[in-house]
Amino acid sequence: MCTCGGARLKRTPLPTPVSHAAVGFAIAAWTQQAPPATRVCVACAACAALPDIDVLWSPLHLAGTSPFAHRAITHSLAFALIGALVITAVFFRSERREQRSRVALVLGLALLSHGCLDALSRYSLGIEFFAPFSAQRFRFPWTPLGDPTGLTGQLIQEALVVFLPAVLIGWLGLRLRSRSVMTTP
Ligand SMILES: [Zn+2]
Repeated sequence: MCTCGGARLKRTPLPTPVSHAAVGFAIAAWTQQAPPATRVCVACAACAALPDIDVLWSPLHLAGTSPFAHRAITHSLAFALIGALVITAVFFRSERREQRSRVALVLGLALLSHGCLDALSRYSLGIEFFAPFSAQRFRFPWTPLGDPTGLTGQLIQEALVVFLPAVLIGWLGLRLRSRSVMTTP
């Protein structure tokens, strides 16, 4: 994993929340107990997009070293862990304890997928995976996202590399895993 430095972030909207949500949906379709529950799929899609909530305070123009800057605390492992526990406790409190643990794990993976997907992009200074304990930013050595040839090119690239494959994989997961339960005697 590459480390990145610098104080200011180059802001860009990609990958879009829709693509993050599609990845969360695919994760839910394949990782939760079969048959995949629609409710968990929807929660995972929302969780996968949630870390970009930090754009709400982007008008404040925080320095890249701030824990509340874009791709900092909300993209960290700590946020994924705490977010998964809180969202499970609030929205899945009526589930059995064992089921709640599974849901928390799946939601945590969805939250974590956001930072990992962003770390596959060329733009910005990377992700603060270890915030609030470290302000070091990281990006993966392989960065297939972030074609600098304009917004249209980036959207097309993102659709082909992330969104469509994620939707297809998620849809396959839902169909195959639901069918496997129905055919089990
Ligand atoms: Zn992000």
